[in-house]
Amino acid sequence: MAVPEPNAPGTPFTGAGIPLCEPAIRGNEWRYIKECLDTNWVSSVGSFVDRLERELAALIGTQHAVVMVSGTAALHIALLVAGVQPDDEVLVPALTFIAPVNAIRYVGAWPVFMDVDTQFWQIDPQKVQGFLKHECVWRNGALWNRSSGRRVHAILPVHILGHPVDMDAITEIARQYELIVIEDAAEGLGARCRGRMVGCFGNVAALSFNGNKIITTGGGGAILTNNEAWARKAKYLSTQAKDDAVEYIHQEIGYNYRLSNIQAAFGVAQLEQLERHIAAKRRIARAYKDVLTDCSGIRCMSEASWAYSTFWMYTILVLEAQYGMSSRGLLRELGLVGITARPLWRPIPESPPYRNCQSYHCEVAQRLSRDALSLPCSVGLEPAAQQRVIEVILSAK
Ligand SMILES: *Cc1c(COP(=O)(O)O)cnc(C)c1O
Repeated sequence: MAVPEPNAPGTPFTGAGIPLCEPAIRGNEWRYIKECLDTNWVSSVGSFVDRLERELAALIGTQHAVVMVSGTAALHIALLVAGVQPDDEVLVPALTFIAPVNAIRYVGAWPVFMDVDTQFWQIDPQKVQGFLKHECVWRNGALWNRSSGRRVHAILPVHILGHPVDMDAITEIARQYELIVIEDAAEGLGARCRGRMVGCFGNVAALSFNGNKIITTGGGGAILTNNEAWARKAKYLSTQAKDDAVEYIHQEIGYNYRLSNIQAAFGVAQLEQLERHIAAKRRIARAYKDVLTDCSGIRCMSEASWAYSTFWMYTILVLEAQYGMSSRGLLRELGLVGITARPLWRPIPESPPYRNCQSYHCEVAQRLSRDALSLPCSVGLEPAAQQRVIEVILSAK
């Protein structure tokens, strides 16, 4: 059978191919970007930069937001302003997109991998507590990892797939052990934990506006914090650490991590549509769940009683023994009819750069990595297209 071409960006769904997760550009994007072009405010400062920062902070409920060129850059800057030092250790889930782990290495610190929970697939507070209690020791006013001899300085929870981490549990653990909390909310924008938006719990948080995220600027990110000094430092570091408006004076090593006014204009328009995007994602999630819940061997993504999930990336588990086919088998079947699905990430400790880093009992991450499959869930996914995906899953085995 011939494999149909995936839809080109911007072309309406024709039944030929169903992409995994496409941007939806249906608001004031053209108008705001045109305004940048017409006024010549196209580069690294401008009213849309200020407006996006104001609106993000207001939405999440933090004092400050500072926009960046990517989510990865935002994580890098977040770790720097939080004072994470070379040879410090940072606790991070084993099951995540790799960006936050790379950012930990950018500042010379080391990841220690924690497992995720079986129900909601987020970093498991109980195992984090177990690690801190059994593997670490207080000495000279700091927490030390017994086996590595390094200082444990921070925890970096990652809200994956649109579902929040249990931030009340993480925040309580961080308080007990005096850890800094750096939230990776790149996949969590709009999700809530006990009524509060993710991104407001940590000492600092990072967002991403990459093309597949719930809102996009083409590429972009932001940090969120209530700490005014950190926010100012983030702006400074992302602007080449420029100390003087006229003379080229730099007291520190800086970065060119600023988001352009054009991208910020894109972001302001997208942010106006966030609620609509979330409503679409939740509708898609419900439609998958209504049918697939009764399919033997398929386990649907769930939402904790204390959580409001955006269902940013709809993901199922394919239990091979019951379903009769592995997640990778189903991935191939879907691919044959032009439907793009995708496995979750391989556990990061299995990646060559991180093989020598410590992991603390990450069995669940391994199992999920084997069984999970993300399904088409673009904001613009047509019901007929979704029905087609469901039919293939029901009939493939
Ligand atoms: C997308 C993503 C990032 C990085 O964002 P970029 O904007 O692509 O650099 C970081 N963390 C997680 C969990 C992500 O999904």
